[in-house]
Amino acid sequence: MNLMVFGAPGAGKGTQAKFLTERYNIPQISTGDILRAAIADETAMGMEAKKYMDAGKLVPDSTIIGIIQDRLAQDDCANGFVLDGFPRTLKQAQALQKLLDDSGKKLDKVLSFDVPDSQIIERIAGRRVCPKCGASFHVQFNPPKKEDVCDYCGDALIIRKDDNVDTVKNRLEAYHAQTAPLIDFYKDLGIFAPIDGAQELHLVTKDMFEALV
Ligand code: AMP
Repeated sequence: MNLMVFGAPGAGKGTQAKFLTERYNIPQISTGDILRAAIADETAMGMEAKKYMDAGKLVPDSTIIGIIQDRLAQDDCANGFVLDGFPRTLKQAQALQKLLDDSGKKLDKVLSFDVPDSQIIERIAGRRVCPKCGASFHVQFNPPKKEDVCDYCGDALIIRKDDNVDTVKNRLEAYHAQTAPLIDFYKDLGIFAPIDGAQELHLVTKDMFEALV
């Protein structure tokens, strides 16, 4: 199963992607997590990407497409994957189509979580993430079992540097200007599945799995 979770920052992509990885035993490929790992490792690519990320802007397409090309070629993607946070521009979407075509694969479904901007700001304000495994929680709507500890790997949860009101506004602007146009791209391919992402978390998960039967 080759899947994509789609939506604005804070729409629930990462959280729902985790459920998909558990059910289908496929890896979650989050370009944001890969970039944050590169920053933690202080690689040249990470240091360059950090400038864009801290400002809430998109990292250049060439960097992102290179990351995805390498990641999709790894063995664990042979039986499927969940793309999370990629593609974010039309150029990335076209590059993905070519990569998949070249390897005789196709995307099965784009699961799109629709959440109003006002709710996004509230969600991001309460978001806590795991720097080790990338899991995402919310202090009120999706709290970890133990305060500030990751349910999945036990690491201490943190607040992401770009989860502040000013940066979130830029990230939402980038989403509407550069990423939202992809909705039509995937509708035209007949694989776009819109989901009401503003519902309670378990109802979003239920709708997501229903969209896959
Ligand atoms: P995310 O964790 O998906 O919210 O991504 C965090 C930040 O990483 C974004 O605000 C961008 O600066 C950068 N980023 C992640 N994925 C992409 C992508 N596909 N294209 C461009 N920038 C990206």
